[in-house]
Amino acid sequence: MSPHRQTRDLSAARRIVIKIGSSLLVDDEHGTIHRKWLAAMAEDVARLCGRGQEVLIVSSGAIAVGRRHLKFADGNLRLEEKQAAAATGMLRLAHAYQEELAHHDLTMGQVLLTLDDSENRRRYINARNTLETLLRLGAVPLINENDTVATDEIRLGDNDRLGARVAAMVSADTLILLSDVDGLYTTDPRRDENATVIPEVYEITPEIEAMAGQAQSSVGTGGMVTKLAAAKVAMSAGCRMVIANGHELNPVRRIEEGASCTWFIPKGTPRSARKHWIAGTLNPTGKLIVDDGALKALKGGKSLLPAGVVNVEGRFQKGDAVIVVNGDGTEVGRGLVAYSLKDARLLMGHKSSEIEGLLGYRGADELIHRDDLVLS
Ligand code: GLU
Repeated sequence: MSPHRQTRDLSAARRIVIKIGSSLLVDDEHGTIHRKWLAAMAEDVARLCGRGQEVLIVSSGAIAVGRRHLKFADGNLRLEEKQAAAATGMLRLAHAYQEELAHHDLTMGQVLLTLDDSENRRRYINARNTLETLLRLGAVPLINENDTVATDEIRLGDNDRLGARVAAMVSADTLILLSDVDGLYTTDPRRDENATVIPEVYEITPEIEAMAGQAQSSVGTGGMVTKLAAAKVAMSAGCRMVIANGHELNPVRRIEEGASCTWFIPKGTPRSARKHWIAGTLNPTGKLIVDDGALKALKGGKSLLPAGVVNVEGRFQKGDAVIVVNGDGTEVGRGLVAYSLKDARLLMGHKSSEIEGLLGYRGADELIHRDDLVLS
């Protein structure tokens, strides 16, 4: 098997984010949900879950469903109208997903995110923990932007980029963008009959960006430009991304069966990308001093527990980057800390089982989880 085929193999994915565009799911004129399509999608999801793969769904369509339900006229809605539409539409959308997935004994958990949840480190960690917990419990997270509270200035606005941010947040290895295009074309297929779909992209070059043009579908908000923006986010997080046409039933199975699509293949893996980010680009504001026992455990690939920490210094909040040093003050690693300075002070030297008693709530067992830690 050539390395290319291997990287395109969906069955090799561990954690998959599927982004579903409005135009696939919602009838633009009546605002009804295409139940047959959704039922087939649930089959696709169940097949992935049955193979032990984890699936997160990022779905658009709340506004498209809600605006018809609330009987808004055609044309652009004002912000508060969109928010009202999303409030009713999301409910109906989630209900439909839940019903279809329940046929396969799958449970959903709805998570509505704002831009802040992916940018503010503390909220990021909370959102990530919720998603991780849902996945651990075998539930399929159903994610959309929290349109009812986000104002235009702070809205992400399109779910292509939200999908990529979610993929980066949970270190997914695969992001599937299902919309109404077959992939990235060499030229605009509406104007050029010789346009062909590019099967694989390894780097977003200016030539690739030029190919993206301004293709736009009527119901959703994301064109090819936002899909490339999503590809950049996904690839820099070590997550491969595929753009595929979702109009036919069972689009995920069709990708596996060789349907035309464009794969964006990153150099690294989610793990290497995340570690690279932690090691290099952060500005640590605090220090955790660890004992020899903890150091040994860290070198053995374990997480940093409060028991092995002898002192904490600096200023940090939950989720901030900190330096880990040994008794001589030598840096031994860097990581994202799961507690604030104040809480870490209370916890240091204590067993993880004492955390709840010391803080009054039960947080993470680790001060730094091994996934958030890079040794020097
Ligand atoms: N969050 C919007 C909705 O559910 C969709 C954004 C998009 O079209 O990508 O209606």
